[in-house]
Order: sequence, then structure tokens, then C-alpha cells
Amino acid sequence: MKGICIIGSGHVGLVTGACLAELGNIVICIDDDFKKIDIIKQGIMPFYEPELEKLVRRNMERGKLSFSTSAEESSRNAEIIFICVGTPQKPGGEADSSYVEAASKRVAEVMDSYKVIVEKSTVPVKTGRWIRRTIELNSPNKYDFDVVSNPEFLREGKAIYDFMHPDRVVLGVESQRAADIMIDLYKPLGAPIIVTNIETAELIKHASNVFLALKISYINAIANICEKVGADVLKVAEGMGYDRRIGRDFLDAGVGYGGYCLSKDLAAFIHVTEEAGCDSELFRAVQRINNSQQDIFVRKVKEALWNLGGKTVGILGLSYKPNTDDMREAPSIQIIQKLQEERVKIKVYDPQAMQNASAILKDVEYCKTPYEAAEGSDALIILTEWDDFKNLDLARIKSLLKQPVIIDGRNIFDPLQMSKLGFVYRGVGR
Ligand code: NAD
Repeated sequence: MKGICIIGSGHVGLVTGACLAELGNIVICIDDDFKKIDIIKQGIMPFYEPELEKLVRRNMERGKLSFSTSAEESSRNAEIIFICVGTPQKPGGEADSSYVEAASKRVAEVMDSYKVIVEKSTVPVKTGRWIRRTIELNSPNKYDFDVVSNPEFLREGKAIYDFMHPDRVVLGVESQRAADIMIDLYKPLGAPIIVTNIETAELIKHASNVFLALKISYINAIANICEKVGADVLKVAEGMGYDRRIGRDFLDAGVGYGGYCLSKDLAAFIHVTEEAGCDSELFRAVQRINNSQQDIFVRKVKEALWNLGGKTVGILGLSYKPNTDDMREAPSIQIIQKLQEERVKIKVYDPQAMQNASAILKDVEYCKTPYEAAEGSDALIILTEWDDFKNLDLARIKSLLKQPVIIDGRNIFDPLQMSKLGFVYRGVGR
């Protein structure tokens, strides 16, 4: 059992805190957002993540998990301090590390004994060195400490499962003492543990996310060829995916990736690559293909409806993927804005993301059900593959639509079946 302090109680920090408490550690999570800490203390989660609320409440009740806005009080009994603050994208693509710097300064000010400072946020390579320097410069009492890079690979929507069942744990360390403490912490998970230096660990995370983005852009590029030559991208992905050297995951063609991680991490990595004087052409192509997927999709809507001005489109799914209410970099934002530029009236439905969407999307009608979004619309568009949408009453949808047009950005339906049901149906790459 270890004393742990988590700085930053967002998607990663809160999940990390709750899971480490579940494993028997004493965890205190802090955040400088007073409102956030206040609602978490009441057992209300600041974002949607399956199973998280149950886990947080259970561990608060058994005294393993608490929340605070004060770094002083929180770090007192902690041997390990996790930095889980955001690293958003700056306008030029570079990662904004200022929150990591601010958190490192707080750590320096409140250090009262040896600590392991864990960089869990996704950061550009060499950030660990800056964390060390910042703590050394700002620490009034020169206690010994170690910096560890321990990147997080969880997926929103499956975050608890992913944290508890990681494919691997990566530890970038600068001393055996820190390695031993961190290995002990993660031993209960039974996952392979890769111990390396800090720069390598930092690069493993960025290189992994860029590779995932690359797989998606790759299959989207293939999907665009499929449409021109009459091939089916789903079968291409299936055929490729059986090859163990390739694998089927992340070969789903669609409207492009979104979310907090892939876009910003790719942009940050391009910056790191170019700063290092290395060739970034491959990574820039990944970005370019992803950006063009949304234009291609809007063109498809145009082809199905002829003139867009004055038409109404019902949209199912706003979050960047299912089982989350996260709207950060969701492809739905770009697609809706592009349709609005063409004077399309937009009705939307999403099971979880409508509240977050309302802060971003203007002049759209929020509907209570998918059927309401279909009612009186000239077409129905699917942008997130929520399970609810796979089980729609399609006969009812058809009777509600002005024209039986479905444009499916996530390939959740079978084109043949949809045609038999009398729909004009367009998927991606088939
Ligand atoms: P988030 O925005 O949900 O949470 C960050 C939190 O840090 C916020 O609540 C913010 O108020 C708090 N914060 C910022 N500065 C602070 C400070 N100085 N002191 C205390 N609190 C502070 O972000 P997130 O999605 O949890 O991502 C965090 C990091 O983890 C990022 O680097 C991200 O790239 C990485 N990551 C995210 C995911 C994901 O799926 N969301 C997965 C793996 C890695």
C-alpha cells in the first residue's frame, strides 16, 4: 500500500486515482478547478465514463480516495506524486507544457521528503528533464526526488478496464530506487512492465498515438480508393486484419479520428520531429488525410441531396467515439459547421454528449431521441457508432424522414440490407 497524490483530476487523473485506490493504495486527487473538486466530493463525475462513479464512491466510502484543492495537505503523506494535467495543442501544433510546469512548481514548493514525481500526462520528449530542473530550481528544501515517465494508454469509454488490464506498463526512470517503487505499485496488474530511460518512455507514448492515427488515415485513404473502384473497405480491413503483422484494430474507415489525444499528439510530434531536424512528411500526410475526410463526407451529403441550402439534416452521434461525452476535436464539429456554411438546418441527437456539444455548436436543434432527429429531415447522418444506433427501428426512421436517405460515417449498417429496406444508403469506402 502506498500514499499517492494525483495532480489534475480529469479523465486520466480521476481514473488513475480511483483505480490505484481500488488496488488498496491511499490516494488523494487534487485539481485547481474548485467546482470540479466540489462535485466529485458529492459523488458526481465531471464527465461520462462507464463504471467510474461506482468506483469513486466505493473508494471514498472505504477511506482510500479523497479530493482536495490544496497541494500542501495532499502531498504530505504521498510517496508518489502523479502529474496528470492537460497538455493541449498551441496554435502552431506544439504541445502546451505550461500546466506541467505549473504542477512541477507546486510539487517543488510542497515537498517535505523524498518523492517520486510521475509524469503521466502525454508530453514531448525531454519534458522529464524540464520537470527535474523546475523542481530543483523552485524547491526551498533540497529533498531528494526522482522523476519517472509513466505514459497512460487508456481509452475513454473503456478507461477503467484499460487501466486495470493494460497491454503493458511503461516506466522511464533515472534510478533503481524509483523503478522499484513503481514496479511494486503496478505489480498487482500482472501486465508486462517495460523499464527504460525517461526519453524512451516519453517517445513510446507519442510514437504509439501517431501509429494509431496513421492506421486510421491509412484505411481512410484505402476507403477512398474502394469507392472509386467498387471494392468494400470492410472486407479489405478484414482481409488485412487477419495478418498478425497488421491486426484488425484501428482499421475502421470513417469520418476521421478525433478526441483529445490523436490530433494534438500528432501535431505535437510533428513539431518535435521538425525541431529535431528529422523528416516529418509521413506524419504530415496522416494529418492531411484525416482533415480531408470531413470534406469528402460533406461532399457525399451533397451528392445525396443535390442542393443543400434550405434542407434539414438529422445527425446521430456527436462525441468523437461511443461511450464518452467528450467533444474535444470531434469530427462532428467540423462536419456540422461545414453543413451550416451551406445553409443546412441541423437537428442532432447523442446519448451523452449534447450538454458538452451545446457549448460548441450554435444554431442546432437538440433532440430527445434519434427518431425526433429523423422526423422531417431530408437525410439522416451517423457520425458516432453508439450501440443504440445499431438497433434503431429502421422502418420507423424511414416513415419519419422526408426522403429515405442515410449517410453513415461509421459503416454501422449493411448496404444491401439498407437498399432492400428502400433507403438511399451511403457508407464510407463501400
Ligand atoms: P483533462 O483536461 O480532462 O484534465 C486535466 C485536469 O488538470 C483538469 O481538471 C485541470 O483543471 C487540471 N489542472 C491543470 N493544471 C493544474 C494544476 N496546476 N494543478 C492542479 N490541477 C490542474 O485532461 P485529460 O484528458 O485527463 O488528459 C491529461 C493528460 O493525459 C494529457 O496530457 C493527455 O494527453 C493525456 N492522456 C489523455 C488520455 C485521454 O483519453 N483523455 C489518455 C491518455 C493520456
